[in-house]
Amino acid sequence: MSGLYIHIPFCENRCSYCAFYSTIARDRKKQEQFFQTLEKELNGLPEDFSPETIFVGGGTPTAPDFQCLEKFFPMFGKFSPQEFSCEANPGTVDEKKLALLRRSGVNRLSLGVQSFHSQCLETLGRIHSAEEAEEAVRLARAAGFENLSIDLIFGVPGQTLQMVESDLDRALALGSEHIAIYNLMYEEGTPLTRRNPLRLDEDLEREMFDRIRERLKAAGFVHYELSNFAKPGFECLHNQLYWNGGEYLGCGPAAHSHWRGARWANVSDLNDYCANGPRREFEEVLNPDAKERETLVMGLRQPAGVEVSSKVWKNLSESFQGLEKAGLLVIDGRRVRLSEEALFVSDAVLAELV
Ligand code: SF4
Repeated sequence: MSGLYIHIPFCENRCSYCAFYSTIARDRKKQEQFFQTLEKELNGLPEDFSPETIFVGGGTPTAPDFQCLEKFFPMFGKFSPQEFSCEANPGTVDEKKLALLRRSGVNRLSLGVQSFHSQCLETLGRIHSAEEAEEAVRLARAAGFENLSIDLIFGVPGQTLQMVESDLDRALALGSEHIAIYNLMYEEGTPLTRRNPLRLDEDLEREMFDRIRERLKAAGFVHYELSNFAKPGFECLHNQLYWNGGEYLGCGPAAHSHWRGARWANVSDLNDYCANGPRREFEEVLNPDAKERETLVMGLRQPAGVEVSSKVWKNLSESFQGLEKAGLLVIDGRRVRLSEEALFVSDAVLAELV
């Protein structure tokens, strides 16, 4: 199984917490230039590349003008993936754009709602209101989307447990098939980090995480990745490909690829990308041991755990046993998984295995 990731590097505005590469470009000419370069990059992919999943992210794929999207989205028609996801910002969608995505083959929409509380939306620098997010869900359903994900964030400065609960209430009331809920990260160099707000207490964040898991489990969702919950059968195939060490090609500025034992990233600069094409700013060949460890660590992001090869077992048995003793890892034959206790502190636990 292989996947294709597309990075659309435009946003209407920059959110305060975001470290993804994007630029505010309302200039139609720049948008056209980008899509022309992207089309060339797509045409240069290996002849036999036939992705089962496509994920259009960014940036905000729904930020460019409708006319631009209408002109270029048909370029994906040459692929016939099983899953075709597109991210959307509730502040940049309307009936026309959503209908266009649907008729271009997009069959899974991931809406960046983040919160239904104006106070949190303001802290995060989002451009939309909670009501606009609800309207976006209604429009997406009307456009024919039957596989909808709502993205939320917890751990926002000033957020309470009750606010997280009511975010879940509203997301569930909207009937979303998938909910991704991320713990806010303070990325280096972002306006939020520079502002240095009073961060939530770690115990409160843990309580939020536990409550999220309880509530979504009770609502029939499967906790299939640290931050991702889905109704059975609605797990995101593209992300599962990442977590299971699968191969993918990425197109667009700052897009990453992992293909035939190598990994690289396109240049994170829209002007450079448009002027020189998809120049690589980083490239490495993975040695088989590093690749196996990386696959293990990514695999452990899934609460169901992973089957471990005898080689990995041999190399890491001491670390496995140490983590098991500390109550952070569950070993069941050759299968290992993070313990309930470890899910909230997974980064620190997984760092032990890299
Ligand atoms: S809309 Fe998304 S990609 Fe753009 S700045 Fe906000 S979080 Fe980042």
